[in-house]
Amino acid sequence: LFVEHPLGEGQTIPLERDQAHYLFGVMRLGVGDFVELFNGHDGAWRCEVVQAGKRAGVLACEAQVKPLQMPPDLWLLFAPIKKARTDFIVEKAAEMGAARIMPVQTVFTNSERIRQDRLQAHAVEAAEQCGGTYVPEVTALQKLDRVLADWPEGRQLMFCDEAEVGSSSALSGVFASEAAREGQGAGPWAILIGPEGGFSPEERARLKALPFAHIVSLGPRILRADTAAVAAMTLWQQALGD
Ligand code: SAM
Repeated sequence: LFVEHPLGEGQTIPLERDQAHYLFGVMRLGVGDFVELFNGHDGAWRCEVVQAGKRAGVLACEAQVKPLQMPPDLWLLFAPIKKARTDFIVEKAAEMGAARIMPVQTVFTNSERIRQDRLQAHAVEAAEQCGGTYVPEVTALQKLDRVLADWPEGRQLMFCDEAEVGSSSALSGVFASEAAREGQGAGPWAILIGPEGGFSPEERARLKALPFAHIVSLGPRILRADTAAVAAMTLWQQALGD
């Protein structure tokens, strides 16, 4: 269970109403039972229920059961699409171990707004279900141009574009050449997935010209953006991730 409270020797954790309802109402736990908690910073801790009520409760940290496990340094940039599909992308990115999930506004992006808190909550749920100790950060919606203008030194961008003819085998070439150049497994990477309408010709030209961008095909069919995100993360994981 995720909590926004420091975890450590001697810490007592007050529960919020919905957490108390879940543990004591739904899971039927009571005083003396144990729960595994994580907060994204302190690893996972075995905690004992010391007070259990309908709307509140208190847990006491007993022992750390897992250290903090940082995910690989992968960013997923995607243009938000319909609500349920955007939720899906965030959930799957968190499950696949992306460190940062970045909604970006492209020329053909249909959504002008996102609910960052709601997406962050999906990332928390996904981390809970994976038994992770880390929660990826979901950033605010930013213009793609802005993100590219502030691009960090050394990070590579896997720019997924269905207009690129070729096959996903080209991808291993991309990773292999990077690995060879850097003399190690991987520099940090980011994946970029476009919106329902894809990228505009100008955007595509700009992306292709960026020295850190590697244009990648995910096969001969046009995938839905949510499918493309999962496919790209899977290929990345196979080549470089853990
Ligand atoms: N209209 C569909 C939808 O509603 O989702 C298709 C959208 S597709 C244009 C969205 C994005 O997925 C593209 O901008 C690209 O990033 C990625 N994508 C889809 N198929 C791809 C492929 N075969 N190769 C590379 N990227 C692909």
